Amino acid sequence: MSAGLPPRRDHVVAAVATTAEVLAHPELDADMLAPWEHRRLSRIRVPARRDDVVAARLLLRLCASRFTGRAPDAHALIQFCPECGRYEHGRPSLRDSPRTGVSMSHAHGLVAAAAGPGAVGIDVEPSTRRPGPMAVLRRMLPEADLEAAVTSQDPGPELLRAWVRREALLKAGGAGLPLLEWEDPGRGATAAVASAAPVEVRSGMTAPGHR
Ligand SMILES: [Zn+2]
Repeated sequence: MSAGLPPRRDHVVAAVATTAEVLAHPELDADMLAPWEHRRLSRIRVPARRDDVVAARLLLRLCASRFTGRAPDAHALIQFCPECGRYEHGRPSLRDSPRTGVSMSHAHGLVAAAAGPGAVGIDVEPSTRRPGPMAVLRRMLPEADLEAAVTSQDPGPELLRAWVRREALLKAGGAGLPLLEWEDPGRGATAAVASAAPVEVRSGMTAPGHR
C-alpha cells in the first residue's frame, strides 16, 4: 500500500495488466501464493499459461490490498466450489475478509482482477479473440446481445464484448448486476466487471507512489 492512499471500501478496485507487468511488479512475488496454489500450478504444463495463472492470483492480491488497505500478502486466498463441496477451485474469496468480493481472469498473456464490497466478477480476453461458433453463442448469450451483434457492421468485437459480460456476470453469480465494460487498446484487452458497487479501473496497477 502506498503512503497516503486510503483504501476505497465503497468502490470495486479493478485492474487489467499484462502477465509480464504483474510478474515484474515490485510489490508482488510468486512466494505470496499458498502451498495449495503452488500445487495446482505444478500441474500446468505450459509455462506461459502457468505464468498467466500466477499473475492473475498476484493481481487479485494487489487489488485486494488497494481495497482493504492491507499488504498484498496479508490476505489468504481460498476457493470453494459449491457444486462438489470442495476447496481449491471455484469462486475465490479472502479467508479473513469473507464479505469482500474478489475475482480474477487470465487469457493469453493478459490478466485482470477485482476486489470490492460484495459480489464481483471480472473477465478479460484479447481484443482480437472471436468467440464462437454461433451455435454455441446462441445458447449462451442474451438474445438482445446476439441481435445487436449480428446486425452490426462487424459482429466479431460485439460478440466478444457480450462474451466477457457473460463471463463477468457468471463469476459474480448475479444475473442482474450492473456491468462495466472497457477496452484497453495498449494491452489489446477487452474486459468487463459485474458489481453492484461503483468500479474504479486501474490500468496496469502502477507501483507505490503512483495511482
Ligand atoms: Zn467443483
